[in-house]
Amino acid sequence: MEIMRCESLSKVYQAGENKVYALNQVSLSLEQGGFIAVTGRSGSGKSTLLHLLSGLDHPTSGRVIYQDAELYKYSDNQLSVLRRRRFGFVFQSYNLVRELTGWENILLPVMLDNRRADEAYLNQLIDLLGIRDRLNHLPGAMSGGQQQRVSIARALANKPAILFADEPTGNLDGKSGREVLTLLRHVNRELGITLVLVTHDLNVAEQADRVIQLEDGRVAHDSGVMQA
Ligand code: ADP
Ligand code: MG
Repeated sequence: MEIMRCESLSKVYQAGENKVYALNQVSLSLEQGGFIAVTGRSGSGKSTLLHLLSGLDHPTSGRVIYQDAELYKYSDNQLSVLRRRRFGFVFQSYNLVRELTGWENILLPVMLDNRRADEAYLNQLIDLLGIRDRLNHLPGAMSGGQQQRVSIARALANKPAILFADEPTGNLDGKSGREVLTLLRHVNRELGITLVLVTHDLNVAEQADRVIQLEDGRVAHDSGVMQA
């Protein structure tokens, strides 16, 4: 079953006289519950694709449809509510709020939504991610791997349908990187959350249900598409 699709999605930047097609007419249908890896060289459009699919940016043209909702027909306010409730995003640089503790960071999306925390669920996440002893620490007192695990908990706090992760292990050493990826796969399989992961690591991509390779803003290869 399809959870999201994009149609002729493009993002064009004007660089002086020239136009840069960060994303060029990309159409994809994403399966619910899947683990989709996005690969490609630096500058091929991976982050742009993730930002557009997750409502973090606006396309120059094209559409993104999540279930029955066309993302970019919503007002900015409606879009941020949808994004907060249905999508989680994990960045390479963690992006935790430095003045808040681990626990406060995790709780932030729930509080922004004026909802009561599902404490049992959050505790399950905290144990799954192994961050119970970091909850009262500020990000500055955590290792990179710990910060990234807190940021995964934050991304999952509202029980999103889709988790987007943009090179989440890019700043981590090999061991913490592997731990973070194991956790993301676990979240995908055990919680049934669709995972869209940008990675340079071919070993990681191999474990995905589908690998989409970008080149110059276009889909150069897609293992999920059946050949005619
Ligand atoms: P990737 O994540 O695969 O490294 P990006 O999606 O970040 O690639 O970028 C794709 C292309 O779009 C690159 O050529 C990049 O330089 C360009 N680009 C991205 N963001 C901007 C921007 N804000 N202004 C101008 N060009 C941009
Ligand atoms: Mg990128």
